[in-house]
Amino acid sequence: MIENKLDKFDVAVIGGGPAGMIAAGRAAELGARVVLLEKNSSLGKKLLITGKGRCNITQAEFDDKEIIKKFGRNGKFLFSSLANFGPEEVIAFFESRRVPTKIERGGRVFPVSDKAQDVLYILQKYLEKNKVEIIYNAQVAGFDVSPEVSGKKIVSVSLAEQGYISPEKQALTPIRRIYADKFILCTGGKSYPTTGSTGDGYQWAKDLGHTIITLAPALVPVKTKELWVKDLQGLSLKNVAINVIQNNKKQDSRFGEMLFTHFGLTGPIVLDLSKKIGELAQQGEVSIAIDLKPALSYDQLDARLQKDFKENSNKDFINYLPELLPQKMIATISSLLGIDPRKKINLVTKDERKKIIELLKNLRLTYDGTTGYSQAIITSGGVDIREVDSKTMQSRKIENLFLAGEILNLDGPTGGYNLQVCWSTGYAAGTYVSQ
Ligand SMILES: Cc1cc2nc3c(=O)[nH]c(=O)nc-3n(C[C@H](O)[C@H](O)[C@H](O)COP(=O)(O)OP(=O)(O)OC[C@H]3O[C@@H](n4cnc5c(N)ncnc54)[C@H](O)[C@@H]3O)c2cc1C
Repeated sequence: MIENKLDKFDVAVIGGGPAGMIAAGRAAELGARVVLLEKNSSLGKKLLITGKGRCNITQAEFDDKEIIKKFGRNGKFLFSSLANFGPEEVIAFFESRRVPTKIERGGRVFPVSDKAQDVLYILQKYLEKNKVEIIYNAQVAGFDVSPEVSGKKIVSVSLAEQGYISPEKQALTPIRRIYADKFILCTGGKSYPTTGSTGDGYQWAKDLGHTIITLAPALVPVKTKELWVKDLQGLSLKNVAINVIQNNKKQDSRFGEMLFTHFGLTGPIVLDLSKKIGELAQQGEVSIAIDLKPALSYDQLDARLQKDFKENSNKDFINYLPELLPQKMIATISSLLGIDPRKKINLVTKDERKKIIELLKNLRLTYDGTTGYSQAIITSGGVDIREVDSKTMQSRKIENLFLAGEILNLDGPTGGYNLQVCWSTGYAAGTYVSQ
């Protein structure tokens, strides 16, 4: 095999997602000669589909401690990188480049234009301005490591050839190697693999001596055993609560918005609970209980029903239900209740009323797995953060390796938290790689 030794840089960044772009731009801004290697023919393919194409850039929670809490035990890792490039700095970064932002429900920050494309454009301009060399269709195949007396060092990365190459041609085809003094690994997770995030970096990190904490799809729609969900497909419910039940005990809960799908449930509160539900499912059956009336206690709901029943005593039961439920739920709920829809309200018994209350407060579904990586927003698990310096993102295993973004074992809820990890850790890696 022939080698090409011309490609030598100060820093090679692998992966042109949000973490890789900010890291490459920052390192170049500080004077390094940087190459960004992206296997797709364009940058930020996943970034473009974030926030349903609107890109929830970050979270308007300006107290770093509150952000850190959302990442559970691993959150502390973010202290230093958030202090240097937290939500305020991210907003300033885009606003100073003429992408104004707005804050929506739950502190979600979006570009005013509602276009993820604008966010990507600014990052591309940042790379261009700082003269980052971008190599597209550059699928990194692996790292070349040299054993040094003082520890292993990465010398280069080799690029896989695109398309089919005959065995005869292979022998004559030069392997393209990219040489650099330092490397930043930003290949992301395994979710939505069609965007290019196929988890390649995990194996390389492992081969280089890192521990990979068990990977799993996270922020992922859940499937349910009950088939009636299909009838409610597309129905979005706002201001409901979901309680996660195992062994008759409430294990977790969320309040907010959810959506029925043909296979089960999705929407912000379901996605946020999906990791916990998946973990619990390892130990036994998990029920998902939807509280359709979270603002009312059982007694308050009973009082309301009694009052309503008096006022509507001559109505058919089915004609009263729209007062309680969205139209799309009525057929399903009345069949689950087993109450004759033509029954007059004044004939509904006390036991039937209790049944209605139970169903409204505790609509039970049985967890039946997730839709997997193909529809997961993020991957939980990843490179063990104890093996990475939280200030610089430098590997504690390989001196000239830095890591940033979703490849790290950090997973937050929906709401802009996960992109914030990419901005903060990418910026830190880009800053310290050049020192
Ligand atoms: C549908 C959806 C919506 C989302 N919405 C939001 C949101 O609104 N807000 C939010 O905070 N988060 C959101 N996320 C999560 C967010 O997109 C990710 O956390 C983020 O993209 C991770 O960035 P990254 O740079 O670490 O990795 P990625 O974005 O996955 O980028 C990795 C890059 O590396 C490249 N690559 C991989 N392997 C190789 C290789 N061998 N050689 C060369 N290049 C390689 C890939 O092609 C890819 O371009 C969403 C995710 C999804 C799937």
